[in-house]
Amino acid sequence: MTYNVNDFDSVDVVNSDRDHVWHHLAHHKPFEKTGPMVIVKGEGMRVWDAKGNEYLDAVSGAVWTVNVGYGRTEIADAVRDQLVTMNYFAQTAGNIPAAQFSKKLIEKMPGMNRVYFSNSGSEANEKAFKIVRQIAHKKYNGKKTKILYRERDYHGTTIATLSASGQHERRHQYGPFVPDFVEVPHCCEYRAQEGADMSQYGVWAANQIEKVILQEGPETIGALCLEPITAGGGVIEASTGYWPRVAEICKQYDILLHIDEVVCGLGRTGTWFGYQHYGVQPDIVTMAKGVASGYAAISCTVTTEAVFEMFKEEDDAKMGYFRDISTFGGCTAGPAAALVNMEIIENENLLENAAVQGEYLRESLKGLMSKHEIIGDVRGKGLLVGIELVKDRTTKEPVAESVVIAIAGHCMENGVIIGRTNRSFKELNNTICLAPALISTQQDMDRVVTAIDNAIAETVSKM
Ligand code: PLP
Repeated sequence: MTYNVNDFDSVDVVNSDRDHVWHHLAHHKPFEKTGPMVIVKGEGMRVWDAKGNEYLDAVSGAVWTVNVGYGRTEIADAVRDQLVTMNYFAQTAGNIPAAQFSKKLIEKMPGMNRVYFSNSGSEANEKAFKIVRQIAHKKYNGKKTKILYRERDYHGTTIATLSASGQHERRHQYGPFVPDFVEVPHCCEYRAQEGADMSQYGVWAANQIEKVILQEGPETIGALCLEPITAGGGVIEASTGYWPRVAEICKQYDILLHIDEVVCGLGRTGTWFGYQHYGVQPDIVTMAKGVASGYAAISCTVTTEAVFEMFKEEDDAKMGYFRDISTFGGCTAGPAAALVNMEIIENENLLENAAVQGEYLRESLKGLMSKHEIIGDVRGKGLLVGIELVKDRTTKEPVAESVVIAIAGHCMENGVIIGRTNRSFKELNNTICLAPALISTQQDMDRVVTAIDNAIAETVSKM
């Protein structure tokens, strides 16, 4: 056997990576000097790089994924057992973990009933868009093909999901895009639109969606796709009154509500799903990152039985069933890992822990505001936290992206990995993002806060 995870030449690994691997979302020029960071081990909330440096990971694998923490042997054992027993057969047939995981997942999602498996958040959203488009053709004579998405939300990296993403900098140079995706305004109280009614901003922002619907024609719109809390666009929770009004609007105009839980799903915000904070009933829910906490690639597009019913078709010639396939979707390591991942969240009370530690983290960060004028806003829910940095609290002029990069770099040098908005919405690349594992302790949160405190002080002293 040529691969042994415990026996490798770290110089050779780093050099091979530098010479041959194309990293995601990365400037490769700097690697030529510094060499890439290669992560070789993880345990709990800690990771180690090939050079032996230890880090506290406050973003769960850089992109808010490892919800239950690193080194979970119970997940690895389940995946191993599954692979040696039955590694693959397409989801044209069923398998044990897919059936068992679906049942358990649906128990946590009242009103939802069908699980369609794929491998990434982008893919789960693509499936949702295809479902909406096919319904438009089956039920509405080819009308209602339009899908609304919101400024600052992100739904994926493929051309169709980028077409549905309200993070304009991410779209730059990747057009032309897919037609019939229409943008609606964001709901960010900290950066409310000019002229907004601040006495009921949530309702006002939802009403802006209605305006777009009326302009486009309700008969042309099939779905509204929203993140429950905008994650990568700056960690933005919509204001009070927003969600009930959104649900009302969808109902009034016969528009499916698709909620993208790729980040918030599986406990990140202190409930199983982000939308469950707001009492709305979606028609379609997509999820990925925390589904198996990164122990296997898996994503799900979950629908109500009413949506699923529309695809039941006796006559093959009508081609009315969902003619979609994903070679690896749901087979079989993914659902096995996902099932144990859910058991861990339940058995260890991680929803409650996320709520408690998240509140503690936010309060501690707010405590830094009296020291650091640069902190404009601290926000989020559960263990999804944003710290928006500004040059001036009154004008809210954002700091340059280089300031956030310097702060993140300083934290990294001091052994704490933090995240940040990256090439997202216009010039607003000014938010530190935190999404530590749901197993976080108060001590871990203290260490994160101290690292950020020191990093801001150091960075500001050089400005
Ligand atoms: N949806 C949201 C809300 C996301 O944050 C992301 C990725 O960050 C995606 C979809 C795309 O997921 P993936 O990178 O797994 O394709």
